[in-house]
Amino acid sequence: MKIGILGAGQLARMIALAGYPLGLEFIFLDPSADACANNLGQHLHGAYDDPRLLAELADLADVVTYEFENVPADVAEFLASHTQVHPAPKALAIAQDRLKEKAFFQDINIPTAPYAPVNSFADLESAISHIGYPAILKSCTMGYDGKGQSLIKSATDLDSAWDVLAGAPAVLEGFVPFNREVSIIAARSVSGAIAFYPLSENTHNGGILRVAKCLDKDAAQTQAQDYITRLLEALDYVGVLALELFDVNGQLVANEFAPRVHNSGHWTIEGAETSQFENHIRAILDLPLGATTAVNKTAMVNFIGNVSSTEEILAIPNTHVHLYDKTPRKGRKVAHATVRAETTEQLDTLLKQLITLADQVDDS
Ligand code: AMP
Repeated sequence: MKIGILGAGQLARMIALAGYPLGLEFIFLDPSADACANNLGQHLHGAYDDPRLLAELADLADVVTYEFENVPADVAEFLASHTQVHPAPKALAIAQDRLKEKAFFQDINIPTAPYAPVNSFADLESAISHIGYPAILKSCTMGYDGKGQSLIKSATDLDSAWDVLAGAPAVLEGFVPFNREVSIIAARSVSGAIAFYPLSENTHNGGILRVAKCLDKDAAQTQAQDYITRLLEALDYVGVLALELFDVNGQLVANEFAPRVHNSGHWTIEGAETSQFENHIRAILDLPLGATTAVNKTAMVNFIGNVSSTEEILAIPNTHVHLYDKTPRKGRKVAHATVRAETTEQLDTLLKQLITLADQVDDS
């Protein structure tokens, strides 16, 4: 059985690593000659919309999935008309446009920040008069890790925020005064079985995820499961889905969803009975989903821009390192490490050591 993956970055690499024990083979389509999953399967080297390569991928793969949501709609449609594609193109189309995504959340009664579309400076002025300060202006498409977005604290920030967009369609969002950011990851199989992971509490540096900590048996788990179930069912979704949420005094507000395995779930490799990567594969192949129970107290730290030496990381007890085999570059996620402990106190002590190491090399 051969799985095709659009993209050959670290997410594709971790999906493949989870798939080998299940006897699977992989084929990747990626424009980068040195993409980090390349040596884990066949690499179709070229543009994501290259018709010849797409036809080859559809022909050689039994099932196609992807590691990023910005797959052009016609590419997803082409693949879906030639082979099995999970998740389906509809989830991609919604997730890649912040305005569609917010409207979809509202349609299925998942609360969001107040928002308004912005296509001109006049729209921006009118939106801010309704939403008020502070607010965040985000481009509707191609934004991730805080890219293409500006915080507007007062009228003096309006011009520069507008300039950042360079004319791209945008959405103005009210700033959510959250107590913490959490995400929930769930897998839904072809047959409709659903498995939920424990919530993850996420800390960002400059918009990029830095730390994700498993929150076992958290008070917000039930509400998060309710929201993600609505999403999974409304989209007739197959695969792993991540939903990012703001927690405002115990009330969850949706930020965005990712129709793929997610960085805030990397701790599941060592910290859950079955990793998000294995469950993604099980879901798209309609295999029984694995248990998602946390096996310990667990947290994950991203190495951004650069990574400490393996010796230094592994000198911290109960730590596992995942190098992505990517050339260090400013703001680029090049590795992550997971730390586990029996108690929350022990975890916090070890996590602090790991964050100190990551801070020393971080250039974000
Ligand atoms: P995003 O690219 O939408 O995931 O945003 C990146 C980060 O910016 C989020 O993880 C939050 O820390 C922050 N952020 C985004 N939107 C809002 C908002 N409406 N209110 C408060 N913080 C936000």
